Amino acid sequence: MLCPKALPLLLALHMQLAMALPVPSELSEEKAAKIVKNYLEKFYHLPSGQYQSAKKKGASMITEKLKEMQRFFGLNVTGEPDMETLEMMEKPRCGVPDGAGFLLTPGNPKWKHTDLTYRIINYTPQLSVAEVEAAIEKAFQIWSVASRLTFTRISQGEADINIAFYRRDHGDNSPFDGPNGILAHAFQPGQGIGGDAHFDADETWTQSSMNYNLFLVAAHEFGHSLGLSHSSDPSALMYPNYAFREPSTYTLPQDDINGIQAIYGPSSNPIQPTGPSSPTTCDPRLTFDAITTLRGEILFFKDKFFWRRHPQLRQVELNFISLFWPSLPNGIQAAYEDFDRDLVFLFKGSQYWALSGYDIQQGYPRDISNYGFPRTVRAVDAAVSFERKTYFFVNNQFWRYDNQRQSMEPGYPKSISSTFPGIESRVDAVFLQDYYFLFFSGPRYYAFNLIAQRVTRVARSTLWLNCR
Ligand SMILES: [Zn+2]
Ligand SMILES: [Zn+2]
Repeated sequence: MLCPKALPLLLALHMQLAMALPVPSELSEEKAAKIVKNYLEKFYHLPSGQYQSAKKKGASMITEKLKEMQRFFGLNVTGEPDMETLEMMEKPRCGVPDGAGFLLTPGNPKWKHTDLTYRIINYTPQLSVAEVEAAIEKAFQIWSVASRLTFTRISQGEADINIAFYRRDHGDNSPFDGPNGILAHAFQPGQGIGGDAHFDADETWTQSSMNYNLFLVAAHEFGHSLGLSHSSDPSALMYPNYAFREPSTYTLPQDDINGIQAIYGPSSNPIQPTGPSSPTTCDPRLTFDAITTLRGEILFFKDKFFWRRHPQLRQVELNFISLFWPSLPNGIQAAYEDFDRDLVFLFKGSQYWALSGYDIQQGYPRDISNYGFPRTVRAVDAAVSFERKTYFFVNNQFWRYDNQRQSMEPGYPKSISSTFPGIESRVDAVFLQDYYFLFFSGPRYYAFNLIAQRVTRVARSTLWLNCR
């Protein structure tokens, strides 16, 4: 039996393995074509039966639909069903199409009244009746605290929002697909089926981090029931793909608050709720908490997120730290790769963790006093390893650690600016590339050539995230 934490980690590992392979050997061209066809038909309004003929006509419609999908998810817009695109298509998600579509009638459908009713038509046997009711109630609460809407459960009669678990074809022209894939769908506000939310009865529904948490999926579907469509902000509840977040501390993200308030106006609460949001990738003020290489990729840490930059493709992908490492805290402050031991070390406050690939090693976190820092050093700003020495930057000084002897070298700390002329302010993050230390300080980076011993380039940090 898997422990509750194991599954997201396995998923993350699977993703990592898949990312590392240039071509999925087991995925034939035929199978890939089938995945693309199904996905574009279901979520991007590719008319069914058009795939074969469209392919013959130079595939212009497929290419356009692929580009639309790639734009939505922030992938490289190639119009080709590349690895990254197929990966995204295989993630578990909501059954409602992305972008403006047939479920989203122009003119933004909304409820005319704010005192909405809901009825739970049937239950899943995987959870108790009380557990289902609690998950559904909490999922509505997420929306009621951010708006004027109220939700009352009724057990008979006609409700605005009917909630039911169905499998496969269930008479609304949107059949479910068995375990994984499509998890649920919901209809825009309106009479009859309007507002109703259906959950795939073939999924395993949980109240834990095991797939799939009913509260999180229901909260997303109720967004559709209230008139919201999908968001391409990966931190949004209305992002189409499933991602586990801790339910007990979950608050509605800012993107979704903006969405619900755009339809129904602000909350009647005198203090408007605010929610978490993703860092804006190309914000010129963006600064990083920590940066490290990891087997050729570059990881840029910021709050509870990190961007992964692929070495050859130069693609950048924003992810939650908790999706890859559920036990790590947010706000990693420093990180470096020890190339000889093939480990990455992450630091926050006086604690540090070791990763082998994407696995956290046993016996961590440990205390940074193990490195031989004086007691006065309780956190590290940035770290980087080069030729078996690790450099630790703290305020305007740095220490150098001998990786082989496993001890701090004598004569440290030294002043950063005397050893690295041109690096005059505090270092937020640093990593090694070729014979350069790439120092990040505020919104800029400084390329320090280790042979010439000088800064050869200063530019905006966000260039590393493909911003122009
Ligand atoms: Zn959805
Ligand atoms: Zn349905």
